[in-house]
Amino acid sequence: MGFRIGAGNSKLAFPSYAVSLPSVRRYFLDKRVNSNECLIELLFAQKRLGNRRNEGDPRAPVHHRTVSRPPPNSPEKRKMSPRQENENREDRFWDRSIETLPREKLRCLQEERLQAQLRWVYEHSPFYRANFDREGFRPGDFKSMEDIRRIPLTHKDELRQAVSRSGNALPHLCLPMAQIAGFGCSRGTTGTSTFAAFSREDMDRRVECYTRSLFQFGLSRGHLFHAMMGIQSITHFILKEAATRLHANYMNDGVDNAGNSVQIGKWLRPTILLTGVRTLFEMEKVLEAEKALPKEVFSYEKVVLYGDVVGGHLIDHVRRKWGIDQVFSLSGSAADLLWYNFDCPAHLGNHCLNEDMFLVEVIDPGSGSPVAEGQKGQLVVTDLCGNGAPHIRWNLEDVVIPFYEPCACGRTHMRLKYLGRALYEVTVKGKAIFPVEVEHQLWKLPEVEGAQFRIVKFAENMDRLRLQIEFEGGEEGQVKGRIRRQLEESLEMDVEIEFLGPGRLPVMDVKTPRVVDLTKG
Ligand SMILES: [Zn+2]
Repeated sequence: MGFRIGAGNSKLAFPSYAVSLPSVRRYFLDKRVNSNECLIELLFAQKRLGNRRNEGDPRAPVHHRTVSRPPPNSPEKRKMSPRQENENREDRFWDRSIETLPREKLRCLQEERLQAQLRWVYEHSPFYRANFDREGFRPGDFKSMEDIRRIPLTHKDELRQAVSRSGNALPHLCLPMAQIAGFGCSRGTTGTSTFAAFSREDMDRRVECYTRSLFQFGLSRGHLFHAMMGIQSITHFILKEAATRLHANYMNDGVDNAGNSVQIGKWLRPTILLTGVRTLFEMEKVLEAEKALPKEVFSYEKVVLYGDVVGGHLIDHVRRKWGIDQVFSLSGSAADLLWYNFDCPAHLGNHCLNEDMFLVEVIDPGSGSPVAEGQKGQLVVTDLCGNGAPHIRWNLEDVVIPFYEPCACGRTHMRLKYLGRALYEVTVKGKAIFPVEVEHQLWKLPEVEGAQFRIVKFAENMDRLRLQIEFEGGEEGQVKGRIRRQLEESLEMDVEIEFLGPGRLPVMDVKTPRVVDLTKG
């Protein structure tokens, strides 16, 4: 029985018993096919033949550290003009071979990279060595994805404790500090800060991931990309590099000055906007004072929103007030992993368009088992290629629903529907609820559309949903009554509401934490 091996149009049929892997490698090199495709095909062929390979066989697996990692920014890619790309293809893939890679090949690539990554962190990081030793795990114990649950999970609190114990901010560092090109610092929405460190290669790979996602929704030459993101953040750097790779004009005016952002929108006429949800509403308020609507003064064609779960109600709002039909959402982990996911025009969940570089798991927090497609679970991500201070089975503490079927857009990488932070799931009379469900109903009422709010968690199982909402205006009593009726009917629970003046709720990382937990003292 033979099998086909090849890339793009250059496919060859090889009889499996006659194939000599070095010759296959030469074939690909001669054909100068994309080295990523070449390596994946080789790897897949090796796995298919794996059972017949003995120790010492000259067809030894390619060495992970030297050749198996994706070239962060290959010379061929640098020469590529996005405009030519657009003109020469009818689809919107930045790297079609990777973005549409069949899942079995993706899994094969992940296994090989994870094996090498486990060896790397065990040899170079005291934090991981101690973690693995404590659980009696050795890197060699991981042979295939069937063994994934043997690898210890890493929780943010464990890293925080290791930082306190050692007095070292980066106990998971695997390289000398001189080789670190960038740092991340998570703001500690749920505790004290944790730190991350990235080598130049690590950052280049993130730029590649971002480029895929930005290209997916159409960023290219001719666009002025208006980003609102902390200009001190490492994400800003990655985003700027990705936009540059796509030959787009990029500008970032930070997150704190909606008045300035409005001026930029009005006068420079950017075409693509990336902003936090809160800033979006602040820009609307600036325009309200001028008695104008965003759709009357701006030229944005597409918007990417981050900082909150982007539900259908928010998309409708942007369509109505901003006149923008193409609304996308961005989620992920900004400072810990520099790992992101965007949705595509099909809006069937956010694509983890980087599964060749990250292993994404969704697990049941109780049993640790993977949840089935369409079921909710906690998000766990492993950096398969990073060598600076990679995270292994990092529990992001987000609750998501995974989808593995290829998307309508043709991409095979998994998609995630976000529900919210695990800590933001509250229970009212035994019924679990996330803030996004409240937001969905609350923002239907025009008086409080876009209003900031938070849930006050006063017990593990509350008898009513207690809300604080920023509100300004008259008829407080009537509005409160309308909100309560709307929420009680739709959520089927008792609701108690307290109004606070505008700006009274705290802001952390450009967003209002959606739950204040009084049960933690
Ligand atoms: Zn898609």
